Amino acid sequence: MSPEIETLSASPAFDLTEDQRAVRAMVRDFAEREIRPIAMQIDESHDFPAATVKKMGELGLMGLFVPDTYGGAGLDYVSYVIAIEELSRVCASHGVIASAHSSLVCYPILAYGTEAQKQKYLTRLASGEWIGAYCLTEPNAGSNAANQQTTAVRDGDDYVLNGTKLFVTNAGPSHVLVVYASTERALGPKGISAFIVEDGTPGVQKGKKEMKLGIHASDTREIAFVNARIPKENLLGENNKGYSVALATLGGGRIGIAAQALGIAQGALEAAVRYAGERKQFDRTIGEFDAIRAMLADSAIEVATARLLTYQAAWLRDQGRPHVKEASLAKWHSSEAATRCANWAIQVHGGYGYLAEFTVERLWRDARICEIYEGTTEVQKMVVAAQVLKEQAVETPARSPSGS
Ligand SMILES: Cc1cc2nc3c(=O)[nH]c(=O)nc-3n(C[C@H](O)[C@H](O)[C@H](O)COP(=O)(O)OP(=O)(O)OC[C@H]3O[C@@H](n4cnc5c(N)ncnc54)[C@H](O)[C@@H]3O)c2cc1C
Repeated sequence: MSPEIETLSASPAFDLTEDQRAVRAMVRDFAEREIRPIAMQIDESHDFPAATVKKMGELGLMGLFVPDTYGGAGLDYVSYVIAIEELSRVCASHGVIASAHSSLVCYPILAYGTEAQKQKYLTRLASGEWIGAYCLTEPNAGSNAANQQTTAVRDGDDYVLNGTKLFVTNAGPSHVLVVYASTERALGPKGISAFIVEDGTPGVQKGKKEMKLGIHASDTREIAFVNARIPKENLLGENNKGYSVALATLGGGRIGIAAQALGIAQGALEAAVRYAGERKQFDRTIGEFDAIRAMLADSAIEVATARLLTYQAAWLRDQGRPHVKEASLAKWHSSEAATRCANWAIQVHGGYGYLAEFTVERLWRDARICEIYEGTTEVQKMVVAAQVLKEQAVETPARSPSGS
């Protein structure tokens, strides 16, 4: 790694371990060699990058935190976020493909799956042989994910699924879906269950690929379930406990999206620094002008704070310590930081920044989704507010009625 890049990308709250540094070096090398040359082209064509995703599987990037007993790399969550950051620094589509697959599919099977489910599904997912997708969002269950209308009705040895899921990342190429459905409508969120659904199950219908503002190479589709029969062995976790699975999954998923946003912000800062050092106007490089330097400095603090929050949340998760608030803080801040940094990077590039030929335009389009999926910024603020109010209640016991 060049000293320049080391300085730009390594200011964590703590020293990284040898393993974590090795992951960064390996993923950066891979992303620069294999992904950078196709990033522009797949943004234009909207093609899912099957060949590089296959290589990511071979490198262990599709199962980084999955124990090696289930075919994963057996590394920690900090290593995982470093990998997502490095992929996204070059191509945010690759970042979200790996992130949705790992955080939203490998994790719940690892944490809640039976041994048989882990042997059958997790081993293939962790090696990248199979790709996973996560089906929670519905037409009337977006920010309010508890409002699940998809139903799963027990019939003999099967559950019969009916309903429609929207915006499913990795939908087209997926082999395995983790699907949430209402098993007991009257119980609301306490009547939701999670299921592992195999691609090719009769009644599972994938829609057309959505055309999006950014992350073009990430395959997003609607998936409908029409009397799809799922064997009872594919219930993931306990019956009616699926909403807890979804929330625990999103806790880690949000750190993955924070890492994706961090990578985009880092890529934007690097592009802006590079251009500011090259472009000349008024017989000086534009990096000599205070207005440009201010944008670079503003970007630097956004990247540094995004990195601190993201690594801290991942580290807390590795320690098995509470991290609901920290995951939301990281996701909220990093995603807005990515948009701001990409915006400044365009400004530093002037008119060239607005051209599709220059990477910063793609970074800006790719950044925007981070403020929306896996809980919008408004939802992250709701989570953070609920957590700080809870902390405050513990620290300041209620006063007695006399006010003493
Ligand atoms: C490209 C892409 C990929 C995605 N991938 C997946 C996936 O793989 N799996 C999956 O299940 N889902 C996925 N999603 C769905 C995504 O998580 C949802 O779009 C997101 O959670 C928001 O839900 P919604 O679109 O229904 O918006 P809504 O919930 O309708 O929100 C609309 C607006 O209202 C605001 N709002 C809503 N409720 C409140 C409130 N109580 N207080 C204040 N403001 C509020 C929101 O913040 C937002 O600004 C993806 C979405 C996209 C665009």
